[in-house]
Amino acid sequence: SIMSLPIDKIKVLHIASEMHPIVKKGGLGDVVGSLPKALRELGIDSRVFLPMYPSIDENVKRTFKRMPYKLYLPLEWRVFPAFLWKTDVQGVPVYLLEIEGVPFPADVYPSNLNLNTIKPFFLFSLAALELEKSARWHPQIFHLHDWPTSQVAIALKWHMYYSSFSKSYDTVLTIHNLAHQGIIQETDLMPWGISKEAFSIDGLEYYGMINLLKGGIIASDAITTVSPRYSWEIQTKEYGMGLDGVLKKYNSKLRGILNGIDYSYWNPMTDPFLPAHYDIDNISPKKECRKALLARCGWGEDHLPVLIYIGRLVEQKGIDLLLYSIESIVGHGCRLIVVGEGNEVYEQSLKEASAQFPANVFVKIGYDEELAHLMYAGGDMLIMPSYFEPCGLIQLIAMRYGTVPICRAVGGLADTVIDADTAHDGTGFLFSHYSSEALLHAIGRALGAWNSPELWNQIVRNCMSADFSWSRSSREYAKLYLELLGVSDFRSF
Ligand code: ADP
Repeated sequence: SIMSLPIDKIKVLHIASEMHPIVKKGGLGDVVGSLPKALRELGIDSRVFLPMYPSIDENVKRTFKRMPYKLYLPLEWRVFPAFLWKTDVQGVPVYLLEIEGVPFPADVYPSNLNLNTIKPFFLFSLAALELEKSARWHPQIFHLHDWPTSQVAIALKWHMYYSSFSKSYDTVLTIHNLAHQGIIQETDLMPWGISKEAFSIDGLEYYGMINLLKGGIIASDAITTVSPRYSWEIQTKEYGMGLDGVLKKYNSKLRGILNGIDYSYWNPMTDPFLPAHYDIDNISPKKECRKALLARCGWGEDHLPVLIYIGRLVEQKGIDLLLYSIESIVGHGCRLIVVGEGNEVYEQSLKEASAQFPANVFVKIGYDEELAHLMYAGGDMLIMPSYFEPCGLIQLIAMRYGTVPICRAVGGLADTVIDADTAHDGTGFLFSHYSSEALLHAIGRALGAWNSPELWNQIVRNCMSADFSWSRSSREYAKLYLELLGVSDFRSF
């Protein structure tokens, strides 16, 4: 039935495992920290539901208010009492769940999944369905993010008690990274109260195990990926991570919506981490940031191109290609600055490279927000040779700060970077083949452009005038919500 529902009547609860600045491990945290705010700017009542991690900063926790009504969550043969806490992040109401006697993992994600470590996430998903009793607020749409919250859709479809709630909610599942699927033993799922029919090939079953993301894909009303290109890449064997068949089968409810970044947080004109501020009308203070960055690495100022890498040190990000290329990068007279953490083998190899080339390579292992900001502003080029990339925010932030991305043409990287050798509005340099030769060839083309300052300035300006704020993408989500709610007239979008 077609009803007319004005946009300001839409109520959406984002259910997620991260939200910047309360808790962030990667891009998902940035998205949940900015999309709900952008939706509110359209008039949608969007709110966020998070686990109350013990590791949340005490000063942040002090701003939370405990809500009086207790929730009772069934699991196994018992009922777990739980509390909601409430806070406000830049105008976005945020609820957090604290379950008595069942703490969430200290490091956000459990390092291995078993009945014990998955339990808080099962209870969290049921709490989303109970939330309105305490919050006195009824969302029509649950917007789920990755496997830790896909269980909400699973519960609405297959839970012996909660499936009766399914008429009052629609669900959207956003896939931020298909590499993480939440795979557990069948026996781990038993105590959760899921009906027998869920244990099939058309349900949660996955090579004799249980796959929570697969269950979410089947059970959700709509699925999105964080870039259009990633939405069809994951339907192929090469990028499907074992779920390409399922995604192909359900592709009529799958679409890609490009992530944005929060332009008020990522702004070289106001960024409090920077020693100097700039925008497209006056780029020259970027040089001050560059100087400060070089000083931070123990280097004096000169005109060698500064290449940066920011991000997790994992296979997905193409660190192998970066490592194989370091000698040539140094040989070309470039500087390389890396901040990241992850795989120990990569961390060790990068440290060795900086010991071998102390005048050209600087490596900081760890998560360092301040250094990252200084690098975005002080760098000349960003290297992002990802094997796959669902969207990637780092190249978007780099462009905003006038740092030219050199990326592999996959997923969101291919959707957001325009090769400067093929278009006059180019913003970076792309390569396709997954090899260090291809990466070095792209770096070589970038250095060619760098050597002609007028051309380089144009590329930098193109980067800074590209628009990856949320304004466009938040409208696409709004359109999706209206579609789910049966509103067909959204010409105003
Ligand atoms: P991911 O695959 O990790 O989600 P994204 O490109 O989507 O990658 O987002 C990464 C986010 O995390 C960006 O905001 C980036 O600035 C930040 N980030 C990643 N690693 C680090 C680090 N070592 N120090 C500071 N910030 C980091």
